[in-house]
Amino acid sequence: MQVLAVTPEIFPLIKTGGLADVTGALPIALAKQGVSTRTLIPGYPTVLKQLEKSAPLHRYPAMHGGEATVFAATAAGLDLLVLDAPHLFDRVGGPYGDTTGADWPDNWRRFAALSFAGADIAAGAISGYRPDLVHVHDWQAALTLAYMRYGAAATTPSVITVHNLAFQGRFGAGIFAELGLPAAAMSLDGIEYYGGVGYLKAGLQSAWAITTVSPTYAQEIRTPEFGMGLDGLVTTRAADLTGIVNGIDVDIWNPQSDGHLKANFAAKTLKARAPNRKAVEERFGLVRDNSLLLCVISRLTWQKGLDILVGVLDQAVAMGARLAVLGSGDAALEGALLAAAARHSGKIGTVIGYDEGLSHLMQAGCDAILVPSRFEPCGLTQLYGLRYGCVPIVARTGGLADTVIDANEAALAAGVATGFQFDAESGSALLHAIGRAIGVHADAPAWAAMQRQGMKADVSWDRSAAKYADLYRSLVAKRT
Ligand code: ADP
Repeated sequence: MQVLAVTPEIFPLIKTGGLADVTGALPIALAKQGVSTRTLIPGYPTVLKQLEKSAPLHRYPAMHGGEATVFAATAAGLDLLVLDAPHLFDRVGGPYGDTTGADWPDNWRRFAALSFAGADIAAGAISGYRPDLVHVHDWQAALTLAYMRYGAAATTPSVITVHNLAFQGRFGAGIFAELGLPAAAMSLDGIEYYGGVGYLKAGLQSAWAITTVSPTYAQEIRTPEFGMGLDGLVTTRAADLTGIVNGIDVDIWNPQSDGHLKANFAAKTLKARAPNRKAVEERFGLVRDNSLLLCVISRLTWQKGLDILVGVLDQAVAMGARLAVLGSGDAALEGALLAAAARHSGKIGTVIGYDEGLSHLMQAGCDAILVPSRFEPCGLTQLYGLRYGCVPIVARTGGLADTVIDANEAALAAGVATGFQFDAESGSALLHAIGRAIGVHADAPAWAAMQRQGMKADVSWDRSAAKYADLYRSLVAKRT
């Protein structure tokens, strides 16, 4: 089976979050299921720098105000198609905004172009290639499904995966005329959304099947609390909605061979984590002792609930915890976490920035990772934590609820606990969970047993890739 994936990010070429990890790892895992994936991505400068271009496979003389070409490339075992459109993608900054973080004002155009090319390729624009199914990710690729539905690939099965319903790609109605869609598409059943245009909405409306990245999040987004205005539409499509939890790339995230670590280790050699712990303590300016060493590795945004953590940090330190924070995002949260580090010098350390290598070292050296999200479609850092013996302490929401077994009395007695869960959005519940972790951590054999139990969990892509492959097959079977 041939699948065309369309995504704005793919690891290791361009990443701002978990989406890139998924689109980078899923094709490799799907190959074992007999599914070959080609992935269409935008030609950002950092992507082009890392690739060797083929001859153009397709040319657009005038795509939203400039010439664009599609070329093929391979990287890290991935089979790529790249939309090279310098007037849209050749810019200094991130994939979605400038160096100050402000969104590019023409994002609607940039990702309409990506989606247009996706639908075109689905319809056979590249000679000798006709995918059996198209799988798009998030709002940036969602319009592909509208172009397919109102164009020449309406009979090609499609899947949209929602990695985060909070990001919807909403724009004013004025752009519609430039999208090149028929007038009929500007309808309640199409792309129209509260009087404007909604890219994700159009994708949800047009997809043959919808997936999101955990079963719990698939339920949650049917409610007004998590549905972000789309719960009504999601509910009408509930029969076509499933939750498939993300895996992680267990070769990249392998504590036995990870090159970012000071020392490699396995479940049987947990003591070998010690040099990693020392390196984290030094990097974050923490006192060196045996107290519980917590970490946070996160975008610093409202979603991630770090303001809730900030609110209880003084008490957490008083209880005997230490904390290393790596993250970047909202200026107010960065400031609050830096202030907490200044206030609790030696007990809290904060590094503002994005540092892939340091994130690996922290998972390998800290005792526990805190994920206090208000909502979390899947979450990856708790999965890395499980794999690295860094016990997850997570809010009971979305994928966090689905992937961590809480250390309640029954789970502890049965020896199956892998972490701690607490009620999302509650500072006192978070503090109570930290207290429970301190309690188990004081009992070294019990803590090590919990680390080992987490390291046994299957966090690979194998099971989830099989579920995607089954879904693909069921959709392709519907076509004929
Ligand atoms: P989201 O996609 O919502 O940001 P996920 O938990 O799904 O959250 O994925 C986040 C990914 O980004 C993980 O791979 C995590 O390790 C990484 N990450 C987040 N912040 C940082 C940072 N400051 N430095 C390094 N890696 C980070």
